Amino acid sequence: MLRGALTLLLLFLLGGCALVAPETGTRAPIPKPDPAQCLADLRASGARFRELTDISTPDGCQVANAVELQRLASGLNRPATMSCPTALALARFDSAVLRPMAKEYLGQSVRTIHHVGAYDCRNQRDGKRISQHGLGRAIDLWAIELGDGTILKIRDDWRGKTARTTYLRKAAKGACDIFHLVLTPSSDYDHKDHLHLDLGPWKRCW
Ligand SMILES: [Zn+2]
Repeated sequence: MLRGALTLLLLFLLGGCALVAPETGTRAPIPKPDPAQCLADLRASGARFRELTDISTPDGCQVANAVELQRLASGLNRPATMSCPTALALARFDSAVLRPMAKEYLGQSVRTIHHVGAYDCRNQRDGKRISQHGLGRAIDLWAIELGDGTILKIRDDWRGKTARTTYLRKAAKGACDIFHLVLTPSSDYDHKDHLHLDLGPWKRCW
């Protein structure tokens, strides 16, 4: 009886690990602010965006309170679709982390945040669950362009002993105070060239 219970517990734990990897942090509540308040806050942040109708696909992807974000205090290389709370988190990341840290560590402003995708209806690597990208809660950043035109690439500047590396790593750490999950080139090979930032159900800072 006891052995059976232990076996079940072990299977549960192993199953749990397989299910949550690599997001094996602690549970984080999904932010669900009042949609109108979120839009007002986003507008007040100085972001430029347009409201979209809610997204819902037969595959299970959905984004409520969706926006197409066009720029923050810093520019975006191209518009990005995401939920309003994700856009608001990105605006906070830009104004509270990316921009002041660029001044502090590099003596520069930030001209453009280069991303390689926010909303994207796809599964996670396990092929079973919808990616946080499919729920409008995630964005992948591959480079930060400074005021002087220098482009700091996650792929090239994440490792080293330069001020660029210090800046990118401090900024990723700062992202952890705003987003739930932050994956970097230090996390795994899949993130060798970008930062994945999301407001999904797991809190973990890599
Ligand atoms: Zn991602």
